[in-house]
Amino acid sequence: SVKRVHNFNAGPSAMPLSVLEKAQAELLSFNGCGMSVMEMSHRSKEFEGIIKTAEADLRELMGIPANYKVMFLQGGASLHFAMEAMNFRPAGASADYIVTGAWSKAAIKEAAKLGTTNVVFNGEAEKFNRLPAAGELNFDPKAAYVHICHNETIHGVEFKSEPVLPAGVPLFCDMSSDFVSQPIDVTKYAMIYAGAQKNAGPAGVVIAIVRDDMLERVPANLPTMLDYKVMAEKESLYNTPPCWSIYMCGLVFQWLKELGGLEAMYKIDQQKAKMIYDVIDKSGGYYRGHAVPESRSIMNIPFRLASEELEDLFVKESKKADLIGLKGHRSVGGLRASLYNAVPLESVKALADFMVEFQKKNG
Ligand code: PMP
Repeated sequence: SVKRVHNFNAGPSAMPLSVLEKAQAELLSFNGCGMSVMEMSHRSKEFEGIIKTAEADLRELMGIPANYKVMFLQGGASLHFAMEAMNFRPAGASADYIVTGAWSKAAIKEAAKLGTTNVVFNGEAEKFNRLPAAGELNFDPKAAYVHICHNETIHGVEFKSEPVLPAGVPLFCDMSSDFVSQPIDVTKYAMIYAGAQKNAGPAGVVIAIVRDDMLERVPANLPTMLDYKVMAEKESLYNTPPCWSIYMCGLVFQWLKELGGLEAMYKIDQQKAKMIYDVIDKSGGYYRGHAVPESRSIMNIPFRLASEELEDLFVKESKKADLIGLKGHRSVGGLRASLYNAVPLESVKALADFMVEFQKKNG
């Protein structure tokens, strides 16, 4: 059989093995139609089935109400930083941003190019190691929306519950790196979007979940590809969508349903994260987690050792043990373990054991 490594990449990242095998089995002929999903028209009956089923399965998994549109779009989550502002912040209005790490900082940077923004919280002085407490948030009651990043992929802080906003202010959320890792009350959000390439599928598709009333705000004459209203009306098929990526997301959603849905996934993800945090917490300061315990992410665990030399050695030695993708993001250094849905428990166990052994040898 083919050798597979323990994959801790931050994204693109591990896919469930059974999903890859299913895609492999269907590669030459999807459902007996004589061609692969890469080769078929996006207007064919086969593809219509694929995209509709993917949407229905996601709606079931997340409990998405009927008054929300689900769209499969492009441009990466990065484009949607600009699009949310272009579509949903009316001329002259301001939008509130809770800046908890590199990705919410990137989001406000885009929105600020196009209009007025307001920083409600900025964790940068504390190196983005925590989420704000409720009392620290002074929202603008007239804000067009509040933006949060549910899970900061680089800094490893993750919201455990939604911030409480002034009445009538919609909550927008970049959920790229913890999408479908846990049950979410979608009704608390007016918009959720996620680049798929961590938990949902391959790169190339962004899933956007938008409450219907938001679409009434979309100004006239936006470039069509940047217009959520058109994309919603055309059911993601205004132009050629990323067909293959959507198909793979659909297979992942089926895999999640077979596993027992997001409650079941969340239990496993919590268990995996605990295995690594336990090693960090019991290491007597040898491993230093970046985030304060209350704000810790279950998906991305950035941590440091006493010196960069030791960190380099950790990366080198871990690679030898087929533990791949543990180098921290180039902007912050150190180490990072990404434990997305598809990373098996055995891989996390292998990493935990490696960390304990590494400390024994190099402590
Ligand atoms: N938001 C978060 C939380 C991310 O982790 C990333 C990518 N790592 C992005 C946005 C940007 O996504 P993309 O590369 O799809 O534009």
